Amino acid sequence: MSHKLYKNLIGGEWVAAKTGKTFLNINPADKNDIVGEFQSSGADDVDAAVKAAEAAFKTWRIFPAPKRAEILYRTGQLLEQRKEQYAQEMTREMGKVIAETRGDVQEAIDTAYYMAGEGRRLFGQTTPSELQNKFAMSVRMPVGVCGMIAPWNFPMAIPSWKLFPALVCGNTCVIKPAEDTPLSTFNLVQTLIDAGLPKGVVNIVTGYGPDAGAPIVSHPGVRAVSFTGSSEVGRIVGQTAAANFKPCSLEMGGKNAMIVLDDANLDLALDGAVWGSFGTAGQRCTATSRIILHKKIAAEFTEKLVTRAKALKVGNGLDESIEMGPQINEQQIETSTKYSKIAQEEGAKILCGGTRLAEGPHANGTFFAPTVVAGVKPKMRIAQEEVFGPVVSLIECDSFDDALDIANSIQYGLSTALYSRDVNHAFRAMRDLEAGITYINAPTIGAEVHLPFGGVKQTGNGHREGGTGALDFYTTWKSVYVDYSDKLQRAQID
Ligand code: NAD
Repeated sequence: MSHKLYKNLIGGEWVAAKTGKTFLNINPADKNDIVGEFQSSGADDVDAAVKAAEAAFKTWRIFPAPKRAEILYRTGQLLEQRKEQYAQEMTREMGKVIAETRGDVQEAIDTAYYMAGEGRRLFGQTTPSELQNKFAMSVRMPVGVCGMIAPWNFPMAIPSWKLFPALVCGNTCVIKPAEDTPLSTFNLVQTLIDAGLPKGVVNIVTGYGPDAGAPIVSHPGVRAVSFTGSSEVGRIVGQTAAANFKPCSLEMGGKNAMIVLDDANLDLALDGAVWGSFGTAGQRCTATSRIILHKKIAAEFTEKLVTRAKALKVGNGLDESIEMGPQINEQQIETSTKYSKIAQEEGAKILCGGTRLAEGPHANGTFFAPTVVAGVKPKMRIAQEEVFGPVVSLIECDSFDDALDIANSIQYGLSTALYSRDVNHAFRAMRDLEAGITYINAPTIGAEVHLPFGGVKQTGNGHREGGTGALDFYTTWKSVYVDYSDKLQRAQID
């Protein structure tokens, strides 16, 4: 089957990488389905993209913010029209089921409308001066060229979280999508162009992390870096950015806990556990990967969860009846297989799954069976380390306090959930769970774009995507003083 060749977008032109190399984007549900061929870029390509973004910044930064916002608004409208096509293409390139890829495009639509509204806000402050006949205010200024590095699991939503707030604030961008999912970023940026985005304001450079991502982080023309991905790569990105004194937003891994107490609505918790653990085949940074069960309900809950996990229909996500798609690639299959083995070596028990699905409809894809691991102790590696697959660990607890301790006993701090009907427990969970996100009676996944998104500990470095936190990252504050006294006035002295 013939496939399309995609080029980098630099200064509004589609250009081949100077390396002369390309790579294939392959459907993880069917390795014979080539979604497209993309440029395998290097430092020279990044340099050209940064220069184009620097040139475009001169005019984009002074283009009125409400007009910038109108482009985002039109982008939202066009994305609504193209939603089904882009969702189908996203399922082909990354595997998650069609209902979820529609949700991924919807998240970009929501972000477009939300950030379009900011074009007429971007509020600063006015405040009295300590001196007479002097005016004082603070205004938000764009940062400049922003470098963006994205993961593959939300291939349109996450780039939209980065691009849209950056653009409304007046920045220009160089984005490198994940090598497994470049097409959805192309679709997003094509929509921005069709909505009227001027040339050079967004530039796309595709390729592998060390070749095309690292030069973005170290390029002197890039004034801020936004990275979403693993903690391992985030550490490298953060250190490089720090060495150059660049603001750097890091959104990284998770080992998200759901606590189910003995006073919970168990059927509701069960629905949440299945969706949180096996949605996106467990490949969400917020996926439920530990379920902490009160000992009184543990046996009943475990039995029901295993029954539900075994019944999940796994396959090609373009089929509407499929409930779980493939893992993104062979490497993720290896990771899920490796951790299933580690769990058993540590003394935990695999109640279902634990293996690749490779027969019949699964023969050409990277499918892994929904996996439930029981008898997990809080300090085991399976309870501590991110698997990023459909593998969930069950840990028993004696009490609510015990559950909180277990939930917090990890290096990550992204999302958490509590199932309980006790309002006191709910408020303590909101206060005491060490995480950027806490859900009460809902699973660990399901963030909305107008709230801050991110985590504590090794999940993040203090910045937030979504909500107004994004505006804080993509602007710098300038304090402005206007003296209309016609004489020298000295602050702190006169
Ligand atoms: P990854 O870290 O392997 O790759 C992320 C991106 O970084 C890719 O575009 C990759 O090409 C690039 N990269 C790799 N090496 C690089 C380097 N040396 N310099 C610069 N860039 C480099 O992560 P992934 O496998 O794409 O995504 C999965 C991870 O992302 C999981 O750990 C998941 O928890 C995390 N994630 C976090 C969030 C969040 O918001 N907290 C959201 C989604 C995914």
